[in-house]
Amino acid sequence: MTSPAPLLLLSASLLMAAPAQAQTPTSEFETCLNTLRAPARAVGVSDATFTQHTLGLQPDMSVIDKLNFQPEFRTAIWDYLAGLVDDQRVAEGRALLAQHADTLARVSERYGVDPATVVAVWGVESNFGQTFGKSPLVQSLGTLSCFGRRQAYFRTEFYATLRILQAGHIAPERLVGSWAGAFGHTQFMPSTFERLAVDFDGDGKANLMDSTPDALASTANFLAKAGWQTGQTWGFEVKLPSGFNTSNEGRRTKRTMDDWAARGVRRVDGTALPAMGSAGLLTPAGPQGPAFLVLRNFDAIYSYNAAESYGLAIAHLSDRLRGGGPFVTPWPTDDPGLSRAERREVQTLLIARGHDIGEVDGMLGDKSRVAIRAEQTRMGQEATGRAGQKLLKALRGG
Ligand code: CA
Repeated sequence: MTSPAPLLLLSASLLMAAPAQAQTPTSEFETCLNTLRAPARAVGVSDATFTQHTLGLQPDMSVIDKLNFQPEFRTAIWDYLAGLVDDQRVAEGRALLAQHADTLARVSERYGVDPATVVAVWGVESNFGQTFGKSPLVQSLGTLSCFGRRQAYFRTEFYATLRILQAGHIAPERLVGSWAGAFGHTQFMPSTFERLAVDFDGDGKANLMDSTPDALASTANFLAKAGWQTGQTWGFEVKLPSGFNTSNEGRRTKRTMDDWAARGVRRVDGTALPAMGSAGLLTPAGPQGPAFLVLRNFDAIYSYNAAESYGLAIAHLSDRLRGGGPFVTPWPTDDPGLSRAERREVQTLLIARGHDIGEVDGMLGDKSRVAIRAEQTRMGQEATGRAGQKLLKALRGG
């Protein structure tokens, strides 16, 4: 690290010279950042650290657009899961389970969380370390601390980011993440990092960007602190008796296995429920789709991202990594979702038809949706912009 002293002096002179003219986002940002210096100091960020990382910092107003973004339509659960838990992710996850077997065994011993669960979180959070996000954290969280509607929340994360840099856990140029500040293999927020990240490779730093052992152990530590019960499952798919009323059920409505059995619920293969703790009933696509009894460990996974669909993706991926198959009960749709390989194929076919959709990346963004609508109209389908098996088949047929 270079000496921060000259920078500090420079910053002080800039502060005194702050112009009172009509403010551009950049000058407004600079003024705002200067007001954050004292509160940052009060929570352990030195002036030198603050100056080193904020002097000359430009706002990135695109993160405010993302903060305000309202999705055009809801992604169906079967589309969500088809993209997150596909054959490619299962194969890659199994290869990584073997590659990191020693580390995962030690992690499991220390934190009590099994390897498949840890690797499933890794796969869903960052595609096993392949997708970290590209926003420099100081810039994105600094911008969110000064503009937009959740400034108090983002300031806490901004200060945490500066403390992480101050402690030298991660090199400043490596600290990039999602627009909202989640970063590294496990996509921890900075405050989560401070509570739960651990150094597992013994170099004295918890480096969730560049150390796989640190990242895997930190994930396990998160789940352990969230109440993970060693040796227990997250839950399992079940079969409901016909006409079962699910309207008052949910993850939080826990009943004993005896109670569920008395209500006619069976494992999906028709066998009796196992003797386990109490469980809630999850029916993410309504009573006609797959149903699951979820135990305490599902709640631990849920706490990672506070979405049941997200929890189910991790839970299901962990089962697939252990050799389990797809859900037995089909989703209540005649047009199932696409794997990432199939999404890439859709994009390739759209490009072949002359549509400008950008890169073939398996992510169906706005440009892809416009092209899909055009093709759906041309082929006499309803122009939904959604890509499912029907669209893929139609595109393959020309
Ligand atoms: Ca380390």
